[in-house]
Amino acid sequence: MTVTETFDEESLREKYREERDKRLRPDGNDQYLEPTGRFAYLLEDPYVEKVEREPLFDEVTVAFIGGGFAGLCAGARLKEAGVEDVRIIEGGGDFGGAWYWNRYPGAMCDTAAMVYLPLLEETGHMPTRKYVFADEIFAHAQRIGTQFELYENALFSTSVSKLEWDETQTRWIIHTDRGDAIKAKFVAMGTGPLQRPKLPGIPGIETFEGESFHTSRWNYDYTGGDSTRTPMVKLADKRVGIIGTGATAVQCIPHLARDAGELYVFQRTPSSIDIRNNQPIEPEWFDTLEPGWQKKWLENFATVQTGGLAEEDLVKDGWTDLTRRIIGRIGEELKKPGTEPGPELFAKAYELSDDEKMEEIRTRVDSIVEDPEAAEALKPWYRQLCKRPCFHDEYLQAYNEPGAHLVDTDGKGVERIDETGVWVNGTHYELDCLIFASGFEVGTPQSRRSGFETFGKDGETLTDHWKDGMQSLHGIHMHNFPNLFISSLAQGGNLLSNVTHNLVEAGTTIASIIAHALEIDADEVEVTEEAEREWIEMIQGNPRSFFGNPECTPGYYNNEGQPIGRLETLNAGGYPEGSVAYFKYIDQWRTSGEFKGLEFTNHSE
Ligand code: NDP
Repeated sequence: MTVTETFDEESLREKYREERDKRLRPDGNDQYLEPTGRFAYLLEDPYVEKVEREPLFDEVTVAFIGGGFAGLCAGARLKEAGVEDVRIIEGGGDFGGAWYWNRYPGAMCDTAAMVYLPLLEETGHMPTRKYVFADEIFAHAQRIGTQFELYENALFSTSVSKLEWDETQTRWIIHTDRGDAIKAKFVAMGTGPLQRPKLPGIPGIETFEGESFHTSRWNYDYTGGDSTRTPMVKLADKRVGIIGTGATAVQCIPHLARDAGELYVFQRTPSSIDIRNNQPIEPEWFDTLEPGWQKKWLENFATVQTGGLAEEDLVKDGWTDLTRRIIGRIGEELKKPGTEPGPELFAKAYELSDDEKMEEIRTRVDSIVEDPEAAEALKPWYRQLCKRPCFHDEYLQAYNEPGAHLVDTDGKGVERIDETGVWVNGTHYELDCLIFASGFEVGTPQSRRSGFETFGKDGETLTDHWKDGMQSLHGIHMHNFPNLFISSLAQGGNLLSNVTHNLVEAGTTIASIIAHALEIDADEVEVTEEAEREWIEMIQGNPRSFFGNPECTPGYYNNEGQPIGRLETLNAGGYPEGSVAYFKYIDQWRTSGEFKGLEFTNHSE
């Protein structure tokens, strides 16, 4: 008997609706607080000391704002294309982006390193395990920076404060918090989809007098230990609280449960915790891979994960498991006489496979968590892709540690915070330290998330250009913003399960356009109004996304349960035919050399 046969479909749907309704709230995204004012310290860099320097007023050919994998991939491709004069400007003290900031204990990437770590063949790096920890990812970012000589011209601990297009000079002027006003012929930005920490808007949050920090700025001075997972010995006599049970919390809770005197996990919605099954990568096997292997792996993962047909599943993990089940089920059904292929068959196969998967995930909780009450509260009641799926082999076990306590809020969230601790259901939990694993801003305006405004032709701001939703060609070019490029996911491949795949593609595209513009001596390259309009009409007209499913429990995948209108569709939408089709399309678009939709202008002609 399969797992799906053990429960009644209708009561399961009803249970999903009930659990969603408990969590729906009218304030959606507005429930969160920005890290400003009393919380501004949350954005400070705890890892390096800011060294004073003289402001710069020089000129570069290409400036890239953001030193994460977006900037590194574009930088590497530009160097390969012979563009030497590239300056990466980064707020953190080194390259790495998300992996510079997120050094919390246990931080690792949930996407297999063979596809997540960019430029593995170019750098010759062999990942140590199937899934690697944050310190190895950070070191890989540094490796790309060193190999492609991107350190030489980089500016670290420098935050852009304003970006403006100077029409007369046909240059961008980049203003920073160091007083710089740097000129650049081309500017690209990759400021990251999840980079601005947000805080839960819990009454009294500002009153807590103990130690508190956000997971993306871990205070190892306070906790002891370091980002290589050495024990946080200073927590041995501390009562630690953590708010949030998303992908970040799932990774750090096992370490806190091991090291803290007492740990209180305040849960609003449990994550789905699938099997991790991490393994070392064997050099003998790695050496057998043939040149061009990473492209093949990237395409294979994207295909299998998004429901496409492939002869084999190279990564074979929790991300691709659901698709394998769906395809298997469709295959079985099609063997039955009279069964027609089509969207209905797919939808049914998807639903049943999802039910089966989630039932296994809930059964796994019972098999690991000893306290039946905690086990019940840790069971997720929603479809797997309603929230970011998690994969871990020590998270559920952490609740068997004697000092670890799950404080479930039954979907309501923490009631309030005071000087000494946290209140839930009328009970006060006294704490020495309160950690916010409350995630990052998604869906707020770009200028707020990046921390600066961009002024294009005639002073038009990017905020204004996007007031009714993002407008671009390929998620890269905006009309009225010449010589400016964005490296991101939205309006492009939008492959959420492997963010860096999008960034490698965007970097390659941006580098080929810049190289072409330099080759033909163009002063300006800009998307036409028409090409931009056609692209967004296509995105808006074909919303092909599971995200936004109104049956889902709220979260950042579905606009916190609020309606999805034009703005949300444009901001979060991708190429209607899916990631794999986009990657194929963009490859042909850039290699054709036509750069359709862009206008290259030489003012002296
Ligand atoms: P999330 O936004 O996923 O989680 C925030 C958590 O805070 C949720 O559990 C949320 O509950 C909870 N919360 C918010 N407000 C309250 C409240 N008032 N009371 C109690 N709880 C509250 O943030 P994360 O940092 O965990 O993850 C963000 C993203 O970062 C991930 O989705 C993933 O994309 C990425 N990430 C990637 C990793 C990787 O492998 N590459 C590793 C870690 C993170 P609720 O669910 O009810 O809203």
